[in-house]
Amino acid sequence: MKKITKTDLAAFGENTRLVVGGRDPAAQHGFVNPPVYHGSTVLAPTVKDLIGRTQKYVYGRRGTPTSEALEEALAAVEGAAGVVLCPSGLSAVTTALLSCLSAGDHLLMTDSAYGPTRHACDAVLGRFGIETTYYDPRIGGDIAGLMRPNTRAVYLESPGSLTFEVQDVPAIAAAAHARGATVLLDNTWATPLFFKAHAHGVDLAIQAGTKYIVGHSDAMFGTISAAASAWPRLKAFHGDTGLCAGPDDIYLAMRGLRSMGVRLRQHQESGLAVARWLAARSEVQRVLHPALPGDPGHALWQRDFTGASGLFALVLTPAPEAAVEAFLDGLKLFGLGYSWGGFESLAIPFDASPYRTASAWNPGGPCVRLHIGLEDVADLIRDLEEGLERFRRAS
Ligand SMILES: *Cc1c(COP(=O)(O)O)cnc(C)c1O
Repeated sequence: MKKITKTDLAAFGENTRLVVGGRDPAAQHGFVNPPVYHGSTVLAPTVKDLIGRTQKYVYGRRGTPTSEALEEALAAVEGAAGVVLCPSGLSAVTTALLSCLSAGDHLLMTDSAYGPTRHACDAVLGRFGIETTYYDPRIGGDIAGLMRPNTRAVYLESPGSLTFEVQDVPAIAAAAHARGATVLLDNTWATPLFFKAHAHGVDLAIQAGTKYIVGHSDAMFGTISAAASAWPRLKAFHGDTGLCAGPDDIYLAMRGLRSMGVRLRQHQESGLAVARWLAARSEVQRVLHPALPGDPGHALWQRDFTGASGLFALVLTPAPEAAVEAFLDGLKLFGLGYSWGGFESLAIPFDASPYRTASAWNPGGPCVRLHIGLEDVADLIRDLEEGLERFRRAS
């Protein structure tokens, strides 16, 4: 097997890049996977080498062959100038924000952002003199009207991972760039496979790697992918603040990445099958899934995305809390728990209305978010059917 160069990698299709990125079997005695380097100290042969930093690796925190392999594989999939690794998705969010904001700056943040992202803006950025204004996720190019002279960053999450509004990323990015602001996107729902962030004008693309990259609910992970415009500042800030991910978690992320393409195709297919089935049920008012033709975000999704993952929500008919509990508590295949992107199905009830400040959220009934895992669709539908019957009896 010949060594694959970066040029080869860029010319390969996406699934090939997922499989071969960051691998060099000849350098490790022919073993298929890169080794996991556990290490802090890197020994130098002489004082000159130590002081002159002549070696490729100088200290564990600053990078190892293991972290470099994953960064390289991810950069190839993202089409990025560079990628950094973080110990969680939320740390990737805050690192990306702090890499491009300073005291006195203004941030425009989507009203549909992941709750802890929002909390970080309010609780942390504010303390450092960075002001956050929330905006309606469906604002599109009108975001230009919210830009201030000190607006240095515009942050998107599309679709919102709880409420599923699809954003007009190219229009928002163009308005932000016209004023010199950095564009950040939480791309966890689509992953780089279903939405090409940098090709749509995003400078910093965040992945909660905990979700689809790791894919098995067994590690916390985050990644930030940068376009050339944002790469030097991101790389410097990430290094200066001492961030790094543990080698075993990097290994789990790399292992997950190899099968991410095939897993996502199945999450998409099963997710759509369940979503369509739910949309026809009398207990369900609405299914919030951008790949369904009736969804308000469908046209943008169709224009910009190449697929849909397995996470979506539904609005039930008005009913007491006890009916929703009867539905969810009795499920056999859907676990009740936060996070998503693993091989297993999950469900949570939610009410986004208390968080929203820039756009109303009035779904008109109780909401449930589902993650459709890799189980047989017929089994998932039977589980949900029994659940909806319990819901109806308790309504
Ligand atoms: C889960 C999640 C995060 C945070 O990731 P953690 O690894 O749990 O810290 C960020 N953004 C979105 C959209 C998420 O779903």
